[in-house]
Amino acid sequence: MLSTMQDVPLTVTRILHQGMTIHGASQVVTWTGEGEPQRRSFAEVGGRATQLARALRDELGVTGDEPVASLMWNNSEHLEAYLAVPAMGAVLHTLNLRLPPAQLVWIVNHAADRVVIVNGSLLPLLAPLLPQLPTVEHIVVAGAGDRTALDEAVAARTESGAPVRVHAYEELIAGRPTAFGTFDWPELDERSGAAMCYTSGTTGDPKGVVFSHRSIYLHSMQVNMAESMGLTDRDLSLVVVPQFHVMAWGLPHAAFMTGVSMLMPDRFLQPAPLADMIERERPTHAAAVPTIWQGLLAEVTARPRDLTSMARVTIGGSACPPSLMAAYDKLGVRLCHAWGMTETSPLGTTSNPPAGLTAEEEWPYRLSQGRFPAGVEARLAGPGGDLLPWDGESAGELEVRGPWIAGAYYGGAGAEPFRPADKFSEDGWLRTGDVGVIGPDGYLTLTDRAKDVIKSGGEWISSVELENALMAHPDVAEAAVVAVPDDKWGERPLATVVLKDGASTGYAELKEFLAGKIAKWQVPERWSVVPAVPKTSVGKFDKKVIRRQYADGELDVTRL
Ligand code: AMP
Repeated sequence: MLSTMQDVPLTVTRILHQGMTIHGASQVVTWTGEGEPQRRSFAEVGGRATQLARALRDELGVTGDEPVASLMWNNSEHLEAYLAVPAMGAVLHTLNLRLPPAQLVWIVNHAADRVVIVNGSLLPLLAPLLPQLPTVEHIVVAGAGDRTALDEAVAARTESGAPVRVHAYEELIAGRPTAFGTFDWPELDERSGAAMCYTSGTTGDPKGVVFSHRSIYLHSMQVNMAESMGLTDRDLSLVVVPQFHVMAWGLPHAAFMTGVSMLMPDRFLQPAPLADMIERERPTHAAAVPTIWQGLLAEVTARPRDLTSMARVTIGGSACPPSLMAAYDKLGVRLCHAWGMTETSPLGTTSNPPAGLTAEEEWPYRLSQGRFPAGVEARLAGPGGDLLPWDGESAGELEVRGPWIAGAYYGGAGAEPFRPADKFSEDGWLRTGDVGVIGPDGYLTLTDRAKDVIKSGGEWISSVELENALMAHPDVAEAAVVAVPDDKWGERPLATVVLKDGASTGYAELKEFLAGKIAKWQVPERWSVVPAVPKTSVGKFDKKVIRRQYADGELDVTRL
């Protein structure tokens, strides 16, 4: 029997219309560093998105499904691009401004971006790359910034016979109609591309993930569900997680859909301004990676601020150390752990504990990566590819599938999508590269990245477990553990530790501290105190740098 339901496409255009009309009074607040933040209503933002769509089409000739790149912080203009570009049928390509320049160049060329919308403050980053970006024809500059370097690069391009036109964002959109109905938004196939994002390419070239209108719509609904972030138009969400990395965890589209006001930090991502904006604007929710929360904790420990407005905070991107969660509990801020990746849009799991538990019973659930929503099917694959039981003990690689999970990577302009065998199973599931266990009640606990797990004498040691145990020591600010080659055991853990200011704790004491918490054979014998843990472009521990530093003899390692 065929259903009798209407078949209405799920599109970003619907999200745009819903936010700017039904939720027109909700706000986007962009931090400006000094003085009053910039405040715009959703009605204004939607009107400006309508103007942007018309300008991109009429002035820059964006008519089809071409990528339109953004090199921007979290702010109102970036949100306008998030809405206008997909809704007009083009594909928003967010560029990660923290990537090494060579990777940025590779990505822009691979996507064949013709238009780049850039924040004025990021021109010093973009301008030197311009000679290597032959496909770029238009640069739209949003906000103030020093244009000297850009003007020089543009002049050089003109001389070489490949001119680039530069537009000022505000001038480009000014004077155009703002009402939704004044633009003939195309009828879109919900399966067509709406936005794209490249993974950071720590192994091999970066890979492009293309989100569809349908995946963004369904993912937005999931983000808004109480089992995930559960936000409404009474909330103000501090969106620290960058719009240039995995669509800011889907928050901008989800928030525009249900009228959640957003506090956007722009480039002010340091602990002090973050603490200031929280105290002043009193967000009810925030989303960021553990490094941000570590930094903020140190800041408010040194100069106390009131963070209690944040009833809930979503933390993910790498494992949340238990000590961090406990420290925020004391400040009246509840961290909620979530797991995901670029290929999963990114929401995979959220760690709300089951109902009816005491605070003590809730604790292990809160520390787990959480459980899967109906839209994300999960399974664990053992070393030989066999599927493992959900018994909380059998560790394997997590594989997932669902309507907002990637089934392939972008092949490049005119090329077919591709499905590398190490990333996709033969039956089409995404191989996440994350290793962990799933309990009988469906809670996922990750123990490692497949490539970070320490294989010692035929047994696995979880680097994450060692790091968490170390970071629970009162003198340890951060700790990263990597596998290093060992003649006897194959691999053994090397602990690199950042001590808090003024601390001089010895290795023997740290070893002793671990011995009470971790199986004895897992306790590292190689130790190194380092000034800082190297981080990736998105603030995660960069373990391949530590492994290289060790291999090159750059670390001062003590063995005991
Ligand atoms: P990315 O695609 O850059 O967002 O990176 C995704 C990867 O980050 C995942 O495959 C995990 O290895 C890691 N990750 C994300 N969230 C968590 C989490 N809550 N706990 C542990 N690892 C995480």
